[in-house]
Amino acid sequence: MSLSLAEIRELAAKYPSPPVVGTVGSHSAIDVADGAVSEGLRSLILAEAGRDATYTRYFRTVRSADGSRVRGCVDDVWTFPKFAEIVTPAVQERLRSQGVVLVPNRAFSSYVPLDAIEDEFRVPIVGSRALLRIEERSERENYYTLLEQAGIATPRPIPSPEAIDRLAIVKLPHAKRRLERGFFTVASAAEYRAKVDRLVARGTVLPSDLETARIEEYVLGPVFNFNFFFSPLVPRDQGLELLGVDERRESNLDGLVRLPAAQQLELNDSDRIPEYLVVGHGTLTVRESILEEVFRMGEKFVDAARARYPPGILGPFCLQTCIDRTGRPVVFDVAARIGGGTNVHLALGHPYGNALYRGPMSSGRRIALEIRTASEQGRLAEIVT
Ligand code: AMP
Repeated sequence: MSLSLAEIRELAAKYPSPPVVGTVGSHSAIDVADGAVSEGLRSLILAEAGRDATYTRYFRTVRSADGSRVRGCVDDVWTFPKFAEIVTPAVQERLRSQGVVLVPNRAFSSYVPLDAIEDEFRVPIVGSRALLRIEERSERENYYTLLEQAGIATPRPIPSPEAIDRLAIVKLPHAKRRLERGFFTVASAAEYRAKVDRLVARGTVLPSDLETARIEEYVLGPVFNFNFFFSPLVPRDQGLELLGVDERRESNLDGLVRLPAAQQLELNDSDRIPEYLVVGHGTLTVRESILEEVFRMGEKFVDAARARYPPGILGPFCLQTCIDRTGRPVVFDVAARIGGGTNVHLALGHPYGNALYRGPMSSGRRIALEIRTASEQGRLAEIVT
């Protein structure tokens, strides 16, 4: 990484107080904007032309003649032909000159090349820049490596298609929509070969992606995505918070499970294979006796991330789990930044976040509170990289 932490922290130390809260317009941007204005900060959305109406029109701040907010939470929108332009020197300069700190989300790390974020983007990021790359399953060192170092339960890896001896999930990108999943499940080596043929013919998977695909045990159990927050501004034993839990709705996978078995069997061949396209989220709470394990898991992750990628987690992160038949959460994915499902508690807060803060506390609001607190204490440099 040719960008040094010291350089970014020096920039942040010179920022006006409070800074402007910027994020990329997709994913969890409304939550971040809502949180910012709830904490009295200004929000900025970096949008892409053609997919900006949510921000430029529908959630745009409208003020009365005296300047007070009438509706909306998006104070400013900058629209670009392509998201990747966010890293051009002119845009970086504009962001810095307006005192913008950027809250990274998956749209940022998917649409802006990671090399550019790591090496060229001289704007303070609220969170850990170095951890964005661990989400890439194709990287040699990724979130599985870190979870292993942390001693957190993950689905058992299956080394090759020939070794498939139970229900397994094969993880690779979608053949055409490269940022989406081309995942499929199989229970034997023979089924793997047959299904691959069908999925290649259908245009869901590319044969070249199969070589690097991760194959792992399919954990039979409900999905619980734990949205945590870690603050470096307080003593370590108070740093970890659980704000909320979400689950996903996945296009035709959810359509399939809503059909009775007899109707499922009537479907034609291609409709029977689910695709894992996330289209929305629901909110959950977890059985209370499982919470202890959830917190243990969160603590281990924070410690491992700090040891391997200092300064480690700063702010929100999400551990995505399936809870197995023994009640144990098994982590199959990690977001070392705000998770994709936090809009479930946007503006309202979540039972866990609210119980902790004695009032509405969403992920977006918690991030803004951290930024405001750090800024007021002259410690903004400690929460950015
Ligand atoms: P991901 O892209 O890792 O977030 O996974 C997308 C979806 O695939 C999840 O929401 C789960 O429904 C499913 N999934 C991923 N890994 C596993 C696993 N090991 N066992 C069961 N379901 C999984």
